[in-house]
Amino acid sequence: VEKFLSYDHMLQVCEELNEKHLPKLNDDAFSNTIDEVLNRIDLDAMDVLQLAYEKLLQTVDSEITKLEDATSITPSCFKGCAHCCYFPIITSQLEGKLLARKILSFPEERKADILAHLKQYFETYENNEVFSIDFQNEPDFKKQYISKQVPCPLLDTKTNMCKAYEVRPIPCRTYLNYSNPSVCNDTLIPKETFSYEFFGEFYSNALNEVIQTLLYEGEDLPKLNYPKDIIEYDYLPNLLKRELDL
Ligand code: SF4
Repeated sequence: VEKFLSYDHMLQVCEELNEKHLPKLNDDAFSNTIDEVLNRIDLDAMDVLQLAYEKLLQTVDSEITKLEDATSITPSCFKGCAHCCYFPIITSQLEGKLLARKILSFPEERKADILAHLKQYFETYENNEVFSIDFQNEPDFKKQYISKQVPCPLLDTKTNMCKAYEVRPIPCRTYLNYSNPSVCNDTLIPKETFSYEFFGEFYSNALNEVIQTLLYEGEDLPKLNYPKDIIEYDYLPNLLKRELDL
């Protein structure tokens, strides 16, 4: 068995996914996650939303694993490889808020470490030009951003590890490599990599459904500005800076 998929093999896998697996895709796993969190009557509404966010992120991971198993592929991504942590990570304001809220809930030592790291980060990259590239209107924003090699604020550039790995956003989960990891080292935007972007939509719809149910039931979501927070997107550095007041 080859260890890494060639580009041609990856194309065959994409074809198999498109023909056999994607047409059968449904949001059952996401619906089950919604039901599970909405049953948590022991939690207040903001904590239900926080839990939904975390569980839905995990649902994306497990759905990706199902497709990998179905097509017999395994990512070649490894701990300590962080080329995609120099990509623009764009999330909704809501996700920025929930990620910031999670960081603030970490045990004291971990929280202090991340906040000190972020403070240092924003001293280094304060108002970096990449944070204002217009991703909605500049067709090559991704290339412009990556070519400046500005790391993600949550990347520990000494260890190449993510400081909030368990709550890293969707783009960090859906972008994977199945071919030789050297392609990520050799090219800014390798053609061999694969993105399960379609799960992002299931995930956002599910998160939105949780919010709508909570609001409909008259629950109070004090940290939420609805629908603005789910409609507006920004680069993760801008969102964290704003939410954590850095
Ligand atoms: S959130 Fe974590 S995994 Fe995602 S780009 Fe940043 S450091 Fe990398």
